[in-house]
Amino acid sequence: MNKAVTVVGGGAIGLSTAWELSQRGFIVTVIDKGVTGRGTSWAGAGILPPANLKNSYDPIDRLRGLSHTLFPRWAEKLKADTGIDPELKRCGGLYLAESAGEIAAMSGMTEYWHEMSIECNQLTADEILDREPALARWWHETSNASVWHVPDEYQLRSPRYLQALAAACRQSGVSFFENTDVTDIRCLNGNAEIQYEGHWRTTDNIVLTSGVWTGQIAASLELELSIVPIRGQMLLLKTASPLVKNVINMGQRYILAREDGHTLIGSNEEESGFELGTTDSVLKSLLEFALHLLPELKSAEQVKAWSGLRPMTFDGFPMIGRVPGVANLHIAAGHHRSGLHLSPGTAVLIADMLSEKIPDIPVDAFQIRKQQPNNAARSCTNT
Ligand SMILES: Cc1cc2nc3c(=O)[nH]c(=O)nc-3n(C[C@H](O)[C@H](O)[C@H](O)COP(=O)(O)OP(=O)(O)OC[C@H]3O[C@@H](n4cnc5c(N)ncnc54)[C@H](O)[C@@H]3O)c2cc1C
Repeated sequence: MNKAVTVVGGGAIGLSTAWELSQRGFIVTVIDKGVTGRGTSWAGAGILPPANLKNSYDPIDRLRGLSHTLFPRWAEKLKADTGIDPELKRCGGLYLAESAGEIAAMSGMTEYWHEMSIECNQLTADEILDREPALARWWHETSNASVWHVPDEYQLRSPRYLQALAAACRQSGVSFFENTDVTDIRCLNGNAEIQYEGHWRTTDNIVLTSGVWTGQIAASLELELSIVPIRGQMLLLKTASPLVKNVINMGQRYILAREDGHTLIGSNEEESGFELGTTDSVLKSLLEFALHLLPELKSAEQVKAWSGLRPMTFDGFPMIGRVPGVANLHIAAGHHRSGLHLSPGTAVLIADMLSEKIPDIPVDAFQIRKQQPNNAARSCTNT
């Protein structure tokens, strides 16, 4: 008899997990308090920086490497099965540095990439102008700037990725309960029950993939401090055709252009609790950043702006695993700036755990509880 799984939260992590589980024969239901694919994942830029599974040792780099390896096949299958193209492109990334601090930070980063055998080359002036002619004015007007090229960087169109995942889930028999808020979790005899629509219900397995809201759902799990919302704002411009081919990165900010000329400018990090919204000052600084690098964007149409809440954990590792002491409860949340990138790898890890298969990469660093400050979290007790 196939086992049933309820996935709470239909973002990139929840939908990927649901898709992977349904393909392995589980009977899957996704519950979302809103419409699936409209949480933080929708707000994300869809940048997948380079990674190398084979030559990485840090747990997060291994998870990134696993996802990076899976993504091309994953995106191809989504497109073939659903007809929705997530627009995964190995477009490459350019990393720009102007100040001494930025150059020092990039030198450290390039050394780290080299240790993982990730290709990364500092470009000459001719090479920069050849790769991205639109950077010519910035390059000529900025003394002491440096630029590195990373061929193995991808971009993904996040809303299309989420649409494709939801469609693929439906095709493989996943049921959806949208606009359904899971309001609490309790444990009875070592098994979890979730409450929604006024009733307590349980199933063979429950996976919490509720992004930044994961800690809030279950007071009894005492995980409310494990995930901190970090708001990021984004500005969308439109030109007749794309001005740049690569993802242009500088510090924490970036510019990337879709094939139809939509150009994303991101982002910032701010602690604003669970409050979404944009501010004039941040949008102004994003626009100034973009115009500084690409003055041609001056005539671009300003299409819209939005924000999203990144689920940050204190130790930088997401929570992926079973809640200690609760047989049927797993969590996959806290992917901060990388949840789109890490979604296929996370889905495979959770599906391996529920299938009682030993995952291909070590998962100790992701265990639940570590992320709570002072390790205060405990499993929910019998009530
Ligand atoms: C501006 C910005 C740029 C980013 N850029 C990138 C990038 O380039 N690359 C990258 O990899 N990552 C990026 N990220 C990070 C990435 O978007 C997140 O890590 C990722 O979206 C987290 O996915 P998730 O599925 O955990 O959360 P979400 O997408 O937020 O999904 C959680 C879901 O759970 C549901 N939910 C919550 N509580 C309940 C409840 N009680 N009951 C039922 N349902 C519930 C919500 O409605 C939501 O649909 C970016 C983020 C931001 C904000």
